[in-house]
Amino acid sequence: MKLQHVCVLGSTGSIGESTLDVIARHPDVLSVYALSANTRIDKLARQAAATGARVVVVPTDDAKRRFTDAWRGAAAMPEIRVGPQALADTAADPEVTTVMAAIVGAAGLPSALAAARAGKRVLLANKEALVAAGGLFMRTVRESGAELLPIDSEHNAIFQCMPRGRGAAAPSEPAKGVRRLLLTASGGPFRTTALDQLGAVTPDQACAHPNWSMGRKISVDSATMLNKGLEVIEAHWLFAMPVERIQVVVHPQSVVHSMVEYEDGSILAQLGQPDMRTPIAYGLGFPERIDSGVGLLSLAALGRLDFEEPDFERFPCLRLSFDALRTGQAACVALNAANEIAVDRFLKQQIRYTEIAHVIEDCLDKINGMSVSRLDSLDDVLALDAHTRKIASQRCLIQA
Ligand code: NAD
Ligand code: MG
Repeated sequence: MKLQHVCVLGSTGSIGESTLDVIARHPDVLSVYALSANTRIDKLARQAAATGARVVVVPTDDAKRRFTDAWRGAAAMPEIRVGPQALADTAADPEVTTVMAAIVGAAGLPSALAAARAGKRVLLANKEALVAAGGLFMRTVRESGAELLPIDSEHNAIFQCMPRGRGAAAPSEPAKGVRRLLLTASGGPFRTTALDQLGAVTPDQACAHPNWSMGRKISVDSATMLNKGLEVIEAHWLFAMPVERIQVVVHPQSVVHSMVEYEDGSILAQLGQPDMRTPIAYGLGFPERIDSGVGLLSLAALGRLDFEEPDFERFPCLRLSFDALRTGQAACVALNAANEIAVDRFLKQQIRYTEIAHVIEDCLDKINGMSVSRLDSLDDVLALDAHTRKIASQRCLIQA
């Protein structure tokens, strides 16, 4: 394996922490070059001291001061860069070989895109980047020759089950011989909750995922299954697969991480513990397999694996996502932006859980009724994202 200098964007988050855990297991080939955080600056300082990072990126001058105050490292303090432009510049830094894009939300799009443009090995956890700007992102990967490795567990599983020889490139057409992608979904914490109780669920209940431990935003997305909707859009772009050839299968145990169905009737699946260090290690080690720290999976102890159809009445956000993908890119930008606002307001207990789908639907109606010009550039995408956030914020106020 070649030496890699890794920039971890969003290092204080759930994916960021798992990434640092895997990197620490391979000090001979993997080193941390840069880390970034938005709020937990003390934690960032501890991570930088432990990993010997040479650069950290923080959002504001105040955060820079807090980092300096919090620094307890024995070695020299890392260079501190400030602001969103510094995030993108660091992702493209010539010293960096590999970028883990693990910022949550569309806020991670500019830096993930900068990494792709600079031809890095991009480990993409930030699915919202592909939802908002999939066409632009994949075109950029193709043009720059970047290596793109999906980290979302379902897409990593599909990547592993794809025909050999497909490398870490950005395909422009579906792989030959593949009939469908089967995306598994746990169904989240409310898979069997009585429908009339959903209006009263709390943020903590929504974040208590039965199988995975994740950041709060993606946990709520998993509860509404909007997360699976984002993943359908993500799979569409990553594997150049038309929407009608992507199927969602509910699989409550989260052991089969996803599957590829072939023309000859074969279905290939990737199985493992629900632990993100497996896909992260796959992305870091590719094409080799390296230790991730994840324990073995005992199939006998598990006993059974269940599969069922998704319930679109219980999970209206899943239906809205399929609709958005069929409608086009503006709808996908709006779906994501409206959801980010609605989830934020739900987590702050300003709107009910069941309002999330209504906020998204209303925003989609508004955006679909507008004539949106082409979304060819990052600026176009960010402008529509900002516009949708305004509409969604207003809508949440009315609700509250
Ligand atoms: P998290 O909330 O735990 O961490 C988010 C990270 O992003 C933090 O380091 C935070 O400081 C940073 N961040 C947040 N807002 C920012 C902003 N405006 N500017 C700069 N940095 C910002 O989230 P997570 O669970 O680690 O998820 C990260 C991404 O990975 C998401 O896109 C999520 O959908 C995806 N993902 C996560 C998992 C998982 O198991 N956690 C699985 C698959 C995909
Ligand atoms: Mg996933």
